[in-house]
Amino acid sequence: MADDDTGGGAIAYRPRFMEIPSFMRYPIVDAPGEVDIALIGVPFDLGTTNRPGARHGPRQVRDMSSLIRRTHHVSLITPGEHCRIGDMGDVPVNPLDAAASLAIIEKFYAGVRAAGAAPLSVGGDHLVALPILRGIAKGAPVGMVHFDAHCDTSGAFMGVEEHHGTPFRLAVEEGLLDPKRVIQIGIRGSLTDKEIWKFSHESGMRVVYIEEFFERGVDWVIEEIARVVGDGPTYVSFDVDGLDPVYAPGTGTPEAGGFSMFEAQKMIRSLQGLHLVGGDVVEVSPPFDPSGNTALNAATVMFEILCVLADSIVSRR
Ligand code: MN
Ligand code: MN
Repeated sequence: MADDDTGGGAIAYRPRFMEIPSFMRYPIVDAPGEVDIALIGVPFDLGTTNRPGARHGPRQVRDMSSLIRRTHHVSLITPGEHCRIGDMGDVPVNPLDAAASLAIIEKFYAGVRAAGAAPLSVGGDHLVALPILRGIAKGAPVGMVHFDAHCDTSGAFMGVEEHHGTPFRLAVEEGLLDPKRVIQIGIRGSLTDKEIWKFSHESGMRVVYIEEFFERGVDWVIEEIARVVGDGPTYVSFDVDGLDPVYAPGTGTPEAGGFSMFEAQKMIRSLQGLHLVGGDVVEVSPPFDPSGNTALNAATVMFEILCVLADSIVSRR
């Protein structure tokens, strides 16, 4: 754990802008067995169909995450108080070989699972969620709270099955996700095909389009999340393009008319009490994020997930 931000003593205090920027200033660790929660970068964007750059996400989110302090101001959860948390660095992907990279990511996460740690990842494009789920959910499908402008359950693109618009269709087909325990929130945007998200509806996922989100309100969405995922093991996947582009312009596929950061924070806080097994924040593309605000918001979302994940782990001991 980084030194106390409150200053505590002048000698112990180290300014937040110093040193190698690990995620939220948690210690850098080598092995998942050293931690309860493994913070992991997945610098992979070979699943991107349009604007690239998410491979640079982990580094930029690490940098901006040095602004995050130790305790949540609403729940008062201090994740590092009862959980061992560490930054495992980045999965060593191969930027010239998508298939090899997916296999490397899956193996990395299988190791995290075998060690009994829960992963909290930063992508990378959304395809990284597929090998993550292959690593942690094989043989034991999980539910999912999915924030996104897109369902990511489409078919092949230019003949390729594995891209950032398909991870959750493939995850259902591979038995990694229980579609009846999946809720997708914030869906919108012009379509290449009227039936592009057909798989979500036909498999039984709960799809909350942004119109329903705003008509019924965030408090209703919070109740709907709890109803859909219940108390089984649940993964959290947060694509920053679910946010309105005013909060997250630095992403590959921005869509106007999204939810706000405050609404995102409120929804994630509401996950306290669920049985959470891990999460990710994906699709931050620093080349489209000159102010760094997208990365700051991604780091803030990461902290919100970390708090409820740590609380879930502690309350299940
Ligand atoms: Mn996505
Ligand atoms: Mn998206």
